[in-house]
Amino acid sequence: MPVAAAHVAGIVEELAPRRLAEEWDNPGWQLGDPRRLVKSVLVALDPAPAVLERARELGAELVVTHHPLVFRPLKHLRLDLPEEALAAAFLNAGIAVYSAHTNLDNAPGGTSDVLAARLGLEKVEVLAPREAEKLYKIVTFVPPEHVDAVHRALTAAGAGWIGNYSHCSFQVEGTGTFLPLEGTNPFIGRQGVLERVHEVRLETIVPAPKLGEAVSRMLKAHPYEEVAYDVYPLARAGQTYGLGRVGELAEALPLAAFAQQVKEALDLAGLWYSGDGGQPVRRVAVCGGSGASLAGRARAAGADVLVTGDVKYHEAQAARLGRLAVIDAGHAGTENPVITALTAHLKERLAAEGVQVSAYLAPPERRFC
Ligand SMILES: [Zn+2]
Repeated sequence: MPVAAAHVAGIVEELAPRRLAEEWDNPGWQLGDPRRLVKSVLVALDPAPAVLERARELGAELVVTHHPLVFRPLKHLRLDLPEEALAAAFLNAGIAVYSAHTNLDNAPGGTSDVLAARLGLEKVEVLAPREAEKLYKIVTFVPPEHVDAVHRALTAAGAGWIGNYSHCSFQVEGTGTFLPLEGTNPFIGRQGVLERVHEVRLETIVPAPKLGEAVSRMLKAHPYEEVAYDVYPLARAGQTYGLGRVGELAEALPLAAFAQQVKEALDLAGLWYSGDGGQPVRRVAVCGGSGASLAGRARAAGADVLVTGDVKYHEAQAARLGRLAVIDAGHAGTENPVITALTAHLKERLAAEGVQVSAYLAPPERRFC
């Protein structure tokens, strides 16, 4: 059953919320009609001519890319300018383009997390934290027989997650009191009579972006006419978002051997590295795409090596002065893994609707000869 293109975009944003994008970025809808019905989606790194061609072959109505098609505000759509002609070609083919760029880079489970996992890193942390999620505690008082329904409603809204544990809550029984006044229609008790009722105090935590939804679902599931609930801001931060990751290999390896491993793990024809091939590496910083600017962060985090793409001569030299080895595995080489991951995420979520999801992995941007 076809789904609206906007529905597919919503699934991408579960993984890469738009609010995580950098200010200068332009993720989201690039062109086309979000209401368009979609039976086939192509996921790719770039909105390139070869991707348009593949989308046509597949009959895909929507292309989801990592790199946006439109960066600067367009003042015209001229067919004699290659980038604008490409946008027009997508429009002419009736193929919509939607992008998840720095929001995918900054997200947990995004570009650099997938790269870190592909390279077998453990104890992975964010290299350049951008923001930590604000957490709230939500507390409500429920008759015992309705606790499960209210708890389910809160969980469905994204409350109750601690690390990889869902449905986290605390429940304690007690006595609630209330006096229904004139004009009320109480679920329990009568107007003008002080009631003492057996209730459960149900408490759980919820990240700031999901608070509104959690409160609204909780109110809907709660049987009372006037629901007593509290929302407390917590000093403890939730999930950290940001660029790059740093983690550890299970055991130290000489740099040359690790570079070989990276080449194989990323399925590359080749890569280059700077540093002494015999130097041991154990702590590894990664950043999918162009991450040479994170060299200082990588050093500060105690990394022996930074794996990224697009490293310039002077950036590698400067890193070397700071005793940081650098592996340049290419921009596409370090970002293709997240295309595979995003494809798998969409495939899983769209399987029930029978929507086809395919990946187009970018060929290396530079040829070795
Ligand atoms: Zn990139």
